[in-house]
Amino acid sequence: MLPTGQETRETSAAYEAGDLVSMSPAIEAQKAIPGGSSAALQLTSVLQTTLDLDKLIEVFSRHIQHLVPHSGLSFENKSLQISVSCGTREKSNRSYQLVVAAQTLGQLVVTRKSRFTDAEGVLLEHLICCLVYPLRNAMMYRSAVMAALKDPLTGINNRTAMNSTLIRETELARRYGAPLSLIALDIDHFKEINDRHGHLAGDYVLKSVAEAISECTRSSDILFRSGGEEFLVLLSNTARQGALMLAERIRRSIESYEYHYGDHAISVTTSLGVACFHTGDNSETLFEKADTALYAAKAAGRNCIKVFD
Ligand code: GH3
Ligand code: MG
Ligand code: MG
Repeated sequence: MLPTGQETRETSAAYEAGDLVSMSPAIEAQKAIPGGSSAALQLTSVLQTTLDLDKLIEVFSRHIQHLVPHSGLSFENKSLQISVSCGTREKSNRSYQLVVAAQTLGQLVVTRKSRFTDAEGVLLEHLICCLVYPLRNAMMYRSAVMAALKDPLTGINNRTAMNSTLIRETELARRYGAPLSLIALDIDHFKEINDRHGHLAGDYVLKSVAEAISECTRSSDILFRSGGEEFLVLLSNTARQGALMLAERIRRSIESYEYHYGDHAISVTTSLGVACFHTGDNSETLFEKADTALYAAKAAGRNCIKVFD
């Protein structure tokens, strides 16, 4: 909620390029700042030093602070779930829709307690011209990094993401003594599903199973596709009993879901193995324990859960 009495100025101009020629006089017009053109060049080069979105916004804020004093700056793109900010939000805002090559990057808001003057508004527009391309590059880098960590079929985390997350979470559990559990899940007789209904039907089942698991989990649980028809759920701050309850909820949810692909009605069950972090464990031993429990569930006839004790 915005504070009442707020002065918000919307600007929907498209900021296409860092035009230093038009920008330098605008900066020089700020009498307090000698050498506007070198300030502009400095800003342009400093913004090229990072591809990290948070850092970029922070660097931009810091380097324009002496030109347009402000208390906070934020950048948001709702559809890409990007929300970056630094400083504090106050009641006077200048808001800019950033567009580059017909692509909307998002909304930039500069904020402070006192009103922005018109001259500052003009200057801000010029300064933002320096930001748009570095910002677009940082956004492209972010989506490339995210894509490298996602499984393209199901949209959930892939094995690369799994390895680094498992290392991080087991290290945290070791250091702080917090409970940590891991569920390994494998679709039963998945080869038969492919053989009988076709590979695309198999892909549909994989996507549906990933969705079913997501619906059963909390936001703090982390879901991965660890292999072909194998998934992992990492449960921070969750001990044996909680992990078993969740595993049973997932097993039942997948079993009871009605899978239809074209004219094919497909029945799907899964086997699950649960392991809990104990002193001396690391990412590899925890994974091995969950995998061993999963094998035991397969050996016990499938569509069931086993715990590594
Ligand atoms: P079990 O109950 O013992 O787990 O048997 P299973 O048939 O599920 O296991 P198996 O390892 O024999 O077969 C796994 C199959 O998963 C074989 C492989 O072709 C299929 N598979 C792996 N990745 C994909 C994928 O991305 N899409 C589809 N449709 N199938 C896949
Ligand atoms: Mg398997
Ligand atoms: Mg299987």
